[in-house]
Amino acid sequence: MFDNLSDKLDRAFKVLKGQGSITEINVAETMKEIRKALLDADVNYKTAKAFTDEVKQKALGENVLTSISPGQLLTKIMSDELTKLMGGTTAELTFPATPTIILIAGLNGAGKTTFSGKLALFLKTQKGKKPLLVADDVYRPAAIEQLKVLGGQIGIPVYANLESKDPVAIALEGLAQAKQNGNNVLIIDTAGRLAIDEAMMVEIEQVKKALNPHEILFVVDAMTGQDAVNTAKVFNDRLDFTGAVLTKLDGDTRGGAALSIKSVVNKPIKFIGTGEKMEALDVFHPDRMSSRILGMGDVISLVERAQQQFDEKEAAELQKKIRKNKFDFNDFFGQIQQIKKMGNMKDLMGMIPGVGKAMKDIDIQDDAFKSIEAIIQSMTPKEKENPDIINQSRRMRIAKGSGNDLAEVNRLIKQFDDMRKMMKQFSNPAQMAKMMRNMP
Ligand code: GDP
Repeated sequence: MFDNLSDKLDRAFKVLKGQGSITEINVAETMKEIRKALLDADVNYKTAKAFTDEVKQKALGENVLTSISPGQLLTKIMSDELTKLMGGTTAELTFPATPTIILIAGLNGAGKTTFSGKLALFLKTQKGKKPLLVADDVYRPAAIEQLKVLGGQIGIPVYANLESKDPVAIALEGLAQAKQNGNNVLIIDTAGRLAIDEAMMVEIEQVKKALNPHEILFVVDAMTGQDAVNTAKVFNDRLDFTGAVLTKLDGDTRGGAALSIKSVVNKPIKFIGTGEKMEALDVFHPDRMSSRILGMGDVISLVERAQQQFDEKEAAELQKKIRKNKFDFNDFFGQIQQIKKMGNMKDLMGMIPGVGKAMKDIDIQDDAFKSIEAIIQSMTPKEKENPDIINQSRRMRIAKGSGNDLAEVNRLIKQFDDMRKMMKQFSNPAQMAKMMRNMP
């Protein structure tokens, strides 16, 4: 996410890094570089100009303290201004009524249906809500089916009426069903079109008028850059939406949409989609995103993701097993599944300060665990539970079964053993204290 932009901003800062003070001249040069970086990231021209003017003014007006360098000062100003540009504070969803009605709008392929599912799951697991999804696309039976399948996967009911071709009627039926079944949030996935289209707009306006939704979320594909912003403008003029959702920020998006939407349509970004999986949704925090763009990492989001996957009971069980030295390959496999649920590996690494930049050229496959999983899956249940019995002939069989070299199997088992030893030490306070004393 934003690799290119981060990189270019970093280079722009270098101009100032070697300097002892901020002057009209060196700041002008830096601003030129920053503006170029923003334009390359597909930020709207006016936005980029206003932004650099503001940063320049702040930089020149600031007294450079002797303790911080001009480069550090500029980083701070940039971080504040980027945060402001993206809306300043986090815009949370509101739940003013029961059921709270959320209308989802956007073009086809933007990720509306996927987001509808993600939002329902988020509201259920993170906010304790009981959502009902409504499939309100009367043109594409496949879209209705897609939502039903997603609903089934995440355990959320879906209202659909394949007989009807009236989106207003279907939405009202969904509302009635939500009231009847005690669903406190209604998420309506509307029909999109390939491009802005009058009939589509009229249709969504009608649904809006009939349902009076509390939130209208406009979903847009971040990969489409300036187009995303233009589309947002048209939708906002017609629907006056309450927030935008940027999808596909996991790809090589240049980031322009995230940086321009707020300043162009004056509506906050509320969520970002970072993958195809149902868990790949983040609340949008302007300050954290700004940190990430500047390569300062986003530890808070990283910890939150870990916490979401964290099950206290499971962790206690695991602790017990580690203490008794019973941590086995089943547990190891389980841990890998947890990490995978946290999202795309490269994205996760990017949240660690300083790592994002260093990793940018390293290709981490999302299936980085594939061969480890294959090796573990080729073990017998007895071997998984008793790693110590895995002798040479067993290793050879596992290698063959999993399509790996013997060396790879050996390496994994060695790593597993080392890890087990280390975990055991960490779980024993006396051992731990001894280790600390021995540290140089
Ligand atoms: P809709 O036509 O607006 O309902 O779009 P869909 O929800 O069907 O999504 C279109 C495609 O984009 C699907 O293949 C989704 O899996 C994919 N998609 C949606 N959101 C994301 C995202 O955040 N990241 C990635 N990589 N793909 C996404």
